[in-house]
Parts: sequence; C-alpha cells; structure tokens
Amino acid sequence: MQKVLQNLLELQSVDMRLHEVRAQLAAFPKKIAEVDARVAAARAALEQSKAAQVNTIKERKKYDLDVEQWKERARKYRDQSSQVKTNEAYKALQHEIQNAEEEMAKAEDRLLEQMVAAEEYDRRVKASEKTVKETEDAARGQRAKIDAEKASTEEILAELEAERARAMAEIPEDLLDHYNRIARKHGGTALAEVRNEKCAACGMRIRPQIFQEMHRASNDEIYHCETCTRILYYVDAPTPSAPPPPDAAASPASTNES
Ligand SMILES: [Zn+2]
Repeated sequence: MQKVLQNLLELQSVDMRLHEVRAQLAAFPKKIAEVDARVAAARAALEQSKAAQVNTIKERKKYDLDVEQWKERARKYRDQSSQVKTNEAYKALQHEIQNAEEEMAKAEDRLLEQMVAAEEYDRRVKASEKTVKETEDAARGQRAKIDAEKASTEEILAELEAERARAMAEIPEDLLDHYNRIARKHGGTALAEVRNEKCAACGMRIRPQIFQEMHRASNDEIYHCETCTRILYYVDAPTPSAPPPPDAAASPASTNES
C-alpha cells in the first residue's frame, strides 16, 4: 500500500477513536446530573415527611384543645345541675352534659388517631433521613468514580490529540484538507477499502480500469470512489508464508526457572 494511504488510514483510525472518546466525555455531565438528581429526590422526600410531621403536631394541639374544651363544658354543666330548681332545667342540663361528653369522646378518638398517625410520620421521617444519608454516601462514591473516569478519559483524549498531530505531520497539507472535507461529509470516514472490486463503504463497483491502475505498485495516485467520493485503498491479500514458531521469543531455559 502507498505510504500516504497508510498515513491517512492511521489518521482515520485516530479520528475514529477521538470521536468515541469525545462522545464519552460529553456523557459525563449527564451522569453527574443523574447522581445529583437522586440526592435531590431523597432530600425532597425528607422535606415532605418533615412537613407532614409538623402538620400533625399542629393538629394534635388543636385536638388536645378540643378535648379540654368539651371536658370543661361538661364540668360546668355538672356544677350548674346541682343548683337548678326545676326538673325540666335539670333534664336540659343532663342532656347538655351527655352531649359534651359525647363530643369529648369524639375529640379523644380524633386525638388518638392523630397520635397513631404522628408515630407513622415519625417513622417516615426516620426512614427518609436514612435514605438521604445512604443516597449521599452512595453519591459521593459515584461522583468520585465518575471524576476518575473523566480524568482518565481526558488523558486518553490528550494522547489521541498528540497522536493525531503526529499522523497529520506525515500528510501533505492539500491531501489533509481533502481528507478532512470528505471525513466531515461522511461521519468521520474519508477512506474506503476496495473489496471484491467494490467500495466497501457504499457498495458501488469500481471500474476495472481504475481497479487495475490501483494495483500498479509504481502508481502513487490517489483514487476516489466515483459514487461516495471516499479515498480508496486496497489491502493486498497476505502472501502465504510460514508463521513464526510459537514462543520463539521465549527461551526454553526461562520456563524451567524457579
Ligand atoms: Zn463509495
């Protein structure tokens, strides 16, 4: 393969990795936002539980007061009933006492219900507090992990950018412009392999004349797919040769050591 095509292929391979790494970096803010959202949701649930708890405390005071008021009224009527002169007035007061006692019993029931509910709200607040703590602890770990991943991805990005600069230095400027233009048009791939006399990227057949010209070793012209305009390259079929013996590098003595 021509040296310039090899250089372009290297550049394309770096560019594809760069594309992936940039996509990974772009995903980090969303990952962090998801962690933050989980913490915010747990805190909101705690605030809600606390608000319900405060509300039951207020209601309990009100029901407490109701019980006291009806109790007080019943006592007042009982005091009065010892002083009334007529049977009718006595009966009327008895009726009032009964009514006040019934109301007091109802208020006591409400108070009891409220106290049971308050216990439930106390439990919910405790459970919410536990959830907040667990979510915050987990979030700290998750953020640290994301930060570490981000830092190592940024390192990879810097390495790839350096690699790109090195690959670019090997390519004539006009060809580089040409490559960049085609790559932009085709989502990053400016080169296409010729396979079975077809452009592997778009599938269109390569004219036999071009195909033959491409195979001439002395030819250093750049060929394009006439359909998708990508730069064509051809990978020579590997010439069959004896593969190196396995473990050729390892000396037999080293395996017997220790
Ligand atoms: Zn093509």
